[in-house]
Amino acid sequence: MEETRLIKPLLDKEYPMISHGDGIYLYDTDGKKYIDGSSGAITASIGHGVKEIIDEMEKQANKISFVYRSQFTSEPAEKLATKLSELAKGADGGYWSFFVNSGSEATETAMKIAIQYWQEKGVKGKNKILSRWMSYHGITIGALSMSGHTVRRARFVSLLEDYPTISPPYCFRCPYDTTYPSCNYLCAYELEKAINRIGAEHIAAFIAEPIIGAAGGAIVPPDGYYQVIKKICEKHNILFIADEVMTGIARTGKMFALEHWETNADIITLGKGMSAGYTPIAATLVSEKIMEPIKKGSRLIMSGHTYSANPQSASVALAVLKYIESNNLVEAAEKNGRYMFSKLLELQKKYPIIGDIRGKGMLCGIEFVSDMITKFPFKKEIDLTTMIVKQAQLNGLLLYPAAAGIEGIGGDAILIAPPLTITCDQIDEIIILLSQTLSDVEKELR
Ligand code: PLP
Repeated sequence: MEETRLIKPLLDKEYPMISHGDGIYLYDTDGKKYIDGSSGAITASIGHGVKEIIDEMEKQANKISFVYRSQFTSEPAEKLATKLSELAKGADGGYWSFFVNSGSEATETAMKIAIQYWQEKGVKGKNKILSRWMSYHGITIGALSMSGHTVRRARFVSLLEDYPTISPPYCFRCPYDTTYPSCNYLCAYELEKAINRIGAEHIAAFIAEPIIGAAGGAIVPPDGYYQVIKKICEKHNILFIADEVMTGIARTGKMFALEHWETNADIITLGKGMSAGYTPIAATLVSEKIMEPIKKGSRLIMSGHTYSANPQSASVALAVLKYIESNNLVEAAEKNGRYMFSKLLELQKKYPIIGDIRGKGMLCGIEFVSDMITKFPFKKEIDLTTMIVKQAQLNGLLLYPAAAGIEGIGGDAILIAPPLTITCDQIDEIIILLSQTLSDVEKELR
């Protein structure tokens, strides 16, 4: 292997060198073509090389790329905040935007604003953020503290707050061994038990991904789940933070995934698809209710980053939103997502290792099992997820590895989340390559 100074995710793995992208396809410098079946990390949601975005980048770069937020505001940042407030219907009075650069920064900012909100209201001691096991809210210490992702926590446990508290709404492996609807949302009511145990006077907020992504492989809660969660939060004076970093901005067939359950959040985090990967930007959306005591109080949100609200990234995010609206990509994600889901269900009949297909819109997950009846996962040593993702890449299909399975034992899942611009014919291409991959892997497993 050639000497390299770039720290890549796995130091002993060879990564192909990217050459360029076009729509849902990527090409490496050896001329190999890949279908971007996961939009990278569920990010490139309008595909690669979109002229409208590149033109906007050039136009803005010719005006100004960077100003420091403590010295200037800019038209793109102002317009983006207004646009996001219009899109995030639900909360009375709309939302204010705090721009950052990554999903981790967005959730960490959400955590800080939730704590600040109670301080500004004169309520002392509400500092804890409850969350779910099987969740991922980011890699920085605060965001990781809120994440129920055992593998990513492991090395830093002694530095982390002990936050994740309740079971996920994981119907495929129900934590209570029951089924919906007779379960009566036991996993949601776990939140109330936790609040009673810990004491609402210590808790600032509860954070959840509307659909669990990297930590669960597109786990969709049963209908009514979020209404129960919201009711419990309101009853106990606890804020509800929706982490829409992966699910937001049209990915699931709604602009915000929480719309599927007609619920709104006090604080929403966005990232990934917000700029569709063209430039880094993420956001913490803060409802008027949360802003009110801050506006009457210190009038300063105690957070911020050098690149926050830079006009270059804001102009890209605005252009992406315009592109999504003018190409009806929310509707496309819903309609073509249903097509993709039906094709995956057909594949399940062919491959007994497919235990579960789940998701919404253009965010689909597959969980693999070694036995259809017992749902027992493959042995950890096999590392089936890596096998599948690696084989798919060899076959020219990019997939996203996710965690799932049984606590302490593990399991295997992938996310399939191509750009929202994908056509049904291109979905068929994914299905052919995925089928080929599963057949190759099954042979290897024999
Ligand atoms: N929140 C969710 C739901 C995510 O899926 C991710 C990333 O996968 C993050 C937060 C962290 O985002 P980033 O990797 O941009 O820091």
